[in-house]
Amino acid sequence: MVKICIDPGHGGADPGAIGPTGLKEKDVNMAVGLKLAELLKPIAEVKLTRTKDIAVSLKDRAAIANSFGCDYFISVHTNSFTDRKVGGVETWAYAPGGNGEKLAKAVQAELVKATGFANRGVKFNSKFAVLRDTKAPAIITENGFISNPDEEKLLKTDAFREKIAKAIAQGVAKQLGKKLPEPKPAQAPAGKLYKVQVGAYKERKNAEAMLAKLKNAGFDGFIKQE
Ligand SMILES: [Zn+2]
Repeated sequence: MVKICIDPGHGGADPGAIGPTGLKEKDVNMAVGLKLAELLKPIAEVKLTRTKDIAVSLKDRAAIANSFGCDYFISVHTNSFTDRKVGGVETWAYAPGGNGEKLAKAVQAELVKATGFANRGVKFNSKFAVLRDTKAPAIITENGFISNPDEEKLLKTDAFREKIAKAIAQGVAKQLGKKLPEPKPAQAPAGKLYKVQVGAYKERKNAEAMLAKLKNAGFDGFIKQE
């Protein structure tokens, strides 16, 4: 089975970037990384460089990846800039050519589609420690700007973090030529059910719009035709 190493950036005393309302990058990266690991498990053997809020040096992150012998390394980050108007997603690879760039392109395309954020493209940097010191093709995803109030607001929600993880997983699956399994529909518990309904619409697109609103607010829901 293909081996994937997932590296949630920062952690412990290093919060990474901090948003206008105090959201810490390390927490966003952790949530996205854990979800990504769960999504990739059906198609790959997965290892995380951290699974909780602890500090891991850049050297150790690369060492974990190298001793695991992964085929791909994915470092999960959130961007930041002094100008709060700047936003968007970008993906970094070590150098042009090869599987690192291919994976970066596949993941970047999915991230743009899923988030609706500006496409800042695939970029290269041979000096980033985790790109340089990992033997496997490696990428860094910058999943939006925590410094941008609109993007920070979305990055706070579980629903949006899941959206990011799904996009990265989709890009990885494409690179591997594999298909992610369809999520199982939620099982209704036996016995009496107390349902909460938020709307009933004559047109399906209106129902879909409400469902999207719910999901963006962090609630799960579904459409049922009667
Ligand atoms: Zn970072």
